Order: sequence, then C-alpha cells, then structure tokens
Amino acid sequence: MTASGYVDLHLHTTCSDGVNTPEEVVAFARQARLAAIAVTDHDTLDGLPAAAAAAEAAAIDFIPGVELSASDHQADVHILGYYLDTATPGLAEELRILRDGRQSRGERILDLLAHLGVPLHLERVVAIAAGAPLGRPHIGAAMIEAGYVETMDEAFERYIGYHAPAYVPKRTLDPAGAIDLVKRAGGVPVLAHPGSLRRDDLIPALVAHGLVGIEVWHPKHDAQRVRTYMAAAETFGLLVTGGSDFHGAGRGESTVGAQPVPLAVVAPLLARARPR
Ligand code: AMP
Ligand code: ZN
Ligand code: FE
Ligand code: FE
Repeated sequence: MTASGYVDLHLHTTCSDGVNTPEEVVAFARQARLAAIAVTDHDTLDGLPAAAAAAEAAAIDFIPGVELSASDHQADVHILGYYLDTATPGLAEELRILRDGRQSRGERILDLLAHLGVPLHLERVVAIAAGAPLGRPHIGAAMIEAGYVETMDEAFERYIGYHAPAYVPKRTLDPAGAIDLVKRAGGVPVLAHPGSLRRDDLIPALVAHGLVGIEVWHPKHDAQRVRTYMAAAETFGLLVTGGSDFHGAGRGESTVGAQPVPLAVVAPLLARARPR
C-alpha cells in the first residue's frame, strides 16, 4: 500500500487519555495511509515503544512525542515535544512528578464530586486509567459508567470542565520549564493548538525561550486560524506542525489523519532534534 503524502503528529493512546491502544492507533494510521505519525500522550512516554514497533511493522515513519502539561496563570499551555531521547537522565523523574500531581488532583476532583452528589470510587477511576497519568476523561468515563451523565461532553459541561464546579487545576510545569525539558531531552518543542489556548500574546516570550514550532493544523483551528498561525510561524521563524489530537470514539470527534498535514513538515523537525 503506497502512503499518502500526509502525516498526523498529534495522537493520544490508552497510555494517557485515549481510548485506543498504541497498536490500534497505528492501525488507524495505516488505514489512513499516513506516511508518518507521532504519538503525543499527555505527560508520559509509556506508549512509545509499542507504537514505534507497530509503526515499523506498518512501514510508517514514527516520531516519538509527548504533550507536556504547562500553564501560565489560568491558561493551560500544552507543549508538544518531538524526537525526544526517552532515555534522558531526569526526564522520567520530571514526568513522574506530573503524574503524581495528577493523582492527587484526581482525588480532589472526586471529593468535590461527592459533595455535588456524584460519588465515585477512586479504585474504579484508577482502574479505568489503567496505569495512565490520571486525567479528567478517566473521571468522565467513570461518571458515564455510573450513569450520572450520558456523554463525556455532559461530564465536562456540568462537572469537570474549566468553568464547572468540580474543576481542579493540575500541577503543571511552567511553559518555559516545559520547553527546557524537551530541549534537555534533545527534542523539538512545539506550541500545541494555540487556537484553543487563545493567548497569542504569550507566543513571543515562548519563542524567546526557545520554542521551535507551532501547531497550525488542529481540529480546533478553522481556515482563518490556520492562516493566522501560518503567518505567526513566518513572523517568528517557527516550524509548522499539525495533527488530529485523536483520543478515540466518545472523546472528541477527531479521526486519525483528519488534518491535512503535509509530509514536508517532518524533515525540518528532525533537523532540529539533537542528532543520535
Ligand atoms: P486533564 O489533562 O486531566 O486536565 O484533561 C484534559 C483532557 O480532557 C484533554 O486533553 C481532552 O482530552 C479532554 N477534554 C478537555 N475538555 C473537554 C471537553 N469539554 N469535553 C470532552 N473532553 C475534554
Ligand atoms: Zn487528552
Ligand atoms: Fe492539548
Ligand atoms: Fe492532545
């Protein structure tokens, strides 16, 4: 099967808050005839070995990635890292701190939910997460399972979304710290979905701190935003990337390969990674 000239550089698996295993995500990429993919789970590298092996078997170029949780005051700033050396000393420990923070934050969310008349068992939520860094989608899945809400959207809308009563922020890096961490690991730091962040004012400081790329194609970006962030890339000398931000059925509408990201974005990314 000949590959198309397209890639998907933003994919989640069961190793964070996706519904599909790394192998299943690669199978979707194969069906979409993608030439290259990156798995970018939140705050974990656990899915990379299985995804890399499956991608190799499917003759899909594989880019190891991560999506780091950072924030600036109230704003969640997600920093994608590509081509990290996963064996970098200290990297696993930094991710461990984020993972532990997600666990205690999850417990606080469950406390708030109990007070709101939505008691959940921590053990059940932990079982749903199945070893992944605990995220709100795991809590939402437990709420659906227990019959408190019908859909993930309803769980976020009524209980755990940013402006809902059981929202608790998680421990994060600051954006500069996330960029530093990616660079220390020899990777390429990229600002994820600036169109959902809606803090374009932060971009110059991130660039000054070493940001290398910006995510231009994303399901939250309409044609106007794609043009806006293309222009920003030009202005700030940033590489462009993009992807579907796929999380699987019931977790967003996106599908693997849904964004028209050209294969030509990959070589410049690799050129900015530390050679090994
Ligand atoms: P967390 O990292 O635990 O704060 O959870 C954030 C994740 O929840 C995102 O990566 C999305 O996968 C998902 N998410 C965020 N907002 C919504 C929403 N309104 N509806 C459904 N899922 C969402
Ligand atoms: Zn997610
Ligand atoms: Fe994100
Ligand atoms: Fe994502």
